[in-house]
Amino acid sequence: MSALPIPTLELSNGYQIPQLGFGTYKISAEDCVDTVKYALDLGIRHIDTAQMYHNEAEVGRAIEESGIPREEIFLTTKLNNDKHLPEDARRSFAQSLEDLRTDYVDLFLIHWPLPTLYGGDFVQTWRTLLEFEQQGRARTVGVSNFQIPHLERLMKETGVMPAVNQVEIHPHFANNQLRSFHLEHNILTEAWSPLARGTIFGDEKVISAAKRLGKTPAQVVLRWGIERGDVLFPKSVTPDRIKENLDIFDFQLDEQTKADLDSLDKGEDGRTGSHPDTMALL
Ligand code: NDP
Repeated sequence: MSALPIPTLELSNGYQIPQLGFGTYKISAEDCVDTVKYALDLGIRHIDTAQMYHNEAEVGRAIEESGIPREEIFLTTKLNNDKHLPEDARRSFAQSLEDLRTDYVDLFLIHWPLPTLYGGDFVQTWRTLLEFEQQGRARTVGVSNFQIPHLERLMKETGVMPAVNQVEIHPHFANNQLRSFHLEHNILTEAWSPLARGTIFGDEKVISAAKRLGKTPAQVVLRWGIERGDVLFPKSVTPDRIKENLDIFDFQLDEQTKADLDSLDKGEDGRTGSHPDTMALL
């Protein structure tokens, strides 16, 4: 399709990551194989899953059945909250690789910075992920939903900053302070729920920008994230929307649109998901 190829960004360890990928949260095991295969068929080469999503086996099957060489796909998965103890992390990581039908993932993340009920601690967990990186079974390791104090603790206690922090970001929750910290420390920002889970399309400024640019509200919102330099992976199970979400590389936001979308930031009130400091165990 005309919108391809998708740009790539460089991680702090030199690996390349496609800036636009495909999210699989809440894609049921039943829908997952066909949906991921469809996305790959359209040209997407970056899939984001997690142990928590209970669809790694289907993502693995979709990749295998797509016939696309494994090394052409950037594959991310994440450690579940109840698997922080080193032995649990090792076992569950091995299970993820088996389910995903691969001997390495491109990116493995600590899903949430929870010192869990199971006695885990995210610094100890981080050290375990660094083992996986050394073994080459995770090409890159990173974190998700870490706040500045969490990142500072990793740096202070291990001397190693994650290459990636995957956090909620969209125009209603711009998360600018954390993004600035990432920039200072060479951490790549991945923006989860880049479409604010569909809650942003009724916004007047989004609608009028879409009309002005001849694009859809979703495309305008995704373009805002791309132009800020973040990595995005919108989720959809709807074929036309998956196509639409890819078709964002043939236009740019004008200054007015950028300013309009920047003005939609509601701070903490804009979050659609859990707060990292208060999230309950899943
Ligand atoms: P998104 O912001 O991607 O929004 C998904 C919703 O938007 C779905 O309801 C989808 O509907 C709808 N949608 C998608 N495209 C369009 C479109 N073009 N027009 C209208 N509606 C559209 O939400 P997610 O929470 O799924 O975030 C994306 C990914 O980020 C996740 O799938 C996951 O991989 C990751 N994530 C990570 C988290 C973490 O803690 N690390 C937390 C949350 C997400 P439909 O599917 O019915 O088409």
